[in-house]
Amino acid sequence: MNQFDAVLRTRDLSRTHGRGESLVHAVDGVDLDVRTGQMLAVMGPSGCGKSTLLHLLGGLERPTGGEVWLAGRRIDTLGERALAQLRRRSVGFVFQAFHLVEELSAAENVELPVLLAGRSPRTARRRTDQLLEQVGLADRARHLPWQLSGGQRQRVAIARALANEPLVLLADEPTGNLDTAATLDVLRLFEGLRTAGQTLVIVTHDERVAATADRLVSMRDGQLVDDTWMTDHGQPVGGIHGWEG
Ligand code: ADP
Ligand code: MG
Repeated sequence: MNQFDAVLRTRDLSRTHGRGESLVHAVDGVDLDVRTGQMLAVMGPSGCGKSTLLHLLGGLERPTGGEVWLAGRRIDTLGERALAQLRRRSVGFVFQAFHLVEELSAAENVELPVLLAGRSPRTARRRTDQLLEQVGLADRARHLPWQLSGGQRQRVAIARALANEPLVLLADEPTGNLDTAATLDVLRLFEGLRTAGQTLVIVTHDERVAATADRLVSMRDGQLVDDTWMTDHGQPVGGIHGWEG
């Protein structure tokens, strides 16, 4: 796979809820290719299907129609075990409400997915030290979530999501509960990840987050209604084609 191939691909992706009168098309025929290393922002009004799309991309929910491909492998047809393994190893999730394990320290929260992926405690510790350092929380390793600010908790959650070096990082309104200073911290972190080549899909209402992305898609009623590329895979638009021409 070369760097311009899609690491994530959907075809006619759909997800309905309920039936009859109460049938809801949460996601309705979405075709989306996310390039390796791309930072994609997803925007749209509440209830338009953003979270559902993200869940489908990461195997948290199963589609009712269409296909999802991750790194060239079709994932919507995987069995439960394979899907659980994929969620654990190949995708990282970040939620608006952090979803840390409250009884575990910051370091233990980050370590857990590494251990669950079957790696040694020593590897898990090394990886955790490195990640907490990366998110600027090396000095908070022993703190419990309630002893941390919202911004710090979200940075722990991001470290946890990165623990198994996921192919894609999926974030659902990651700054939705944060003040401006904490939002900027998280944004700087995402920019660093993007520079390092991490593929990111971020659902957001925040213009600052969207402005950082390479590409912005807008949703309405379960469908993609706009797709704007601000940069060409991190390169200014025209740069790559300019060299070719
Ligand atoms: P967004 O994240 O953009 O706010 P969602 O993906 O959460 O939108 O929801 C899209 C639509 O699907 C909404 O109409 C919502 O009410 C509906 N929906 C989402 N999850 C469920 C569910 N588990 N059961 C029934 N309807 C759902
Ligand atoms: Mg949502």
